[in-house]
Amino acid sequence: MGNPKKFDFTVIGLGAVGSAAFYQLSKSGKSVLGIDRFNPPHEMGSSHGETRITRLAVGEGEDYVALAKRSHEIWKELEAKSGKQIMSTCGGILIDSGEDPWSKHGSEGFWERTVRFAQKQEISHEILTPEEAKDFYPAFNIPEKGKIYREKEAGFLRPELAISTQIQLACSLGAKLQTNCPVLKIEETVGGFCLKTTEGEFWSERILISSGGWVKDFLPSKDRQRFKICRQILHWVKVDPELGDWSQYPVWMWGFGPKPEDFIYGFPSLDGKTVKMATESFLDCGHPDALARTVSLEEQKLFWDTKVKGKIKGLLPEFLKSKVCFYTVTEDARFVVENWNGSSKAQLVSACSGHGFKHSAALGEKLALQLLE
Ligand SMILES: Cc1cc2nc3c(=O)[nH]c(=O)nc-3n(C[C@H](O)[C@H](O)[C@H](O)COP(=O)(O)OP(=O)(O)OC[C@H]3O[C@@H](n4cnc5c(N)ncnc54)[C@H](O)[C@@H]3O)c2cc1C
Repeated sequence: MGNPKKFDFTVIGLGAVGSAAFYQLSKSGKSVLGIDRFNPPHEMGSSHGETRITRLAVGEGEDYVALAKRSHEIWKELEAKSGKQIMSTCGGILIDSGEDPWSKHGSEGFWERTVRFAQKQEISHEILTPEEAKDFYPAFNIPEKGKIYREKEAGFLRPELAISTQIQLACSLGAKLQTNCPVLKIEETVGGFCLKTTEGEFWSERILISSGGWVKDFLPSKDRQRFKICRQILHWVKVDPELGDWSQYPVWMWGFGPKPEDFIYGFPSLDGKTVKMATESFLDCGHPDALARTVSLEEQKLFWDTKVKGKIKGLLPEFLKSKVCFYTVTEDARFVVENWNGSSKAQLVSACSGHGFKHSAALGEKLALQLLE
């Protein structure tokens, strides 16, 4: 029997991307180890909070469309294998208030780009006027100049379920799992890498570093500044039961001003009592360990006053709960995939900047294929 601590492949960090790559690598028949500092899925990284939007016309970049499409295929494959519903295709809308160009995730004119990419990539969609949208979505007070993009195949993913399903499937194919085990240091050795962890040393011929916001821990200090760690708050706002049924809504995104923070998005109500919604923030707190993990009443009130009030009906200014999560943000909001330490046998990935989950299944597959080459 070989050394039980020696593997062909190791995935460091089993969040959205890492769990996907872990599963895809496990199909190769090679020995695969997955290590995480916590016990995924967990609430310390970027992949928790019940739901993530998925949409095919990805305004962040036309080249991401293929990844989103392939991910949809993989989510369906995973559902067929596991019998669990990871993706809900409830449709999605993008509302542009029509006053200032909507800038999002580094893309000016985000609404127009989305429409353009949908047309070019033959993604089924419609454009609605505010008047037409009012019939379908009476909760939104869309200004007269507003415009609405609607995509049938958009919807939401269940991030925790996606991660646990991929980890379970990988383990059922023989991959080994090491949780609550931070990798403290990686040293390149002859023929591979030595991973120093709190549970001793592991050896691996090839590695994938998919450690989310902790990517910085594996980079020299000059490279760490490429990644901002931006605290985000998810709110579960109470529904006004007298004013309509939020369970039939699509996923929705609304850009209402020129700043990236002039933005709100949300989901259909999953429990009939609350709607999960959020805005975005791009203040850098430096490192996930420095993140303030609790949400104050003042923060909830500010969210209501500046993002919801006057724009959205059918909700009460009451919060069931709020949770903290974080984005890992690059300057141009694009993902980072590169060799680590100059070695083609070590890949580093950060599917970041607040739009990575919908791509994670296909990105994991792509990374696995790259490592297997
Ligand atoms: C509030 C919020 C809303 C979002 N909404 C959307 C959305 O609607 N649609 C969308 O597509 N995307 C969305 N995103 C973005 C998406 O969720 C992220 O891009 C994606 O989850 C990032 O996944 P990851 O694998 O890079 O990081 P994570 O999922 O955070 O995984 C990193 C893993 O690495 C582990 N790790 C770290 N350091 C070590 C170490 N030293 N040793 C071992 N393990 C380690 C961590 O414990 C963690 O499990 C949102 C993000 C947030 C925060």
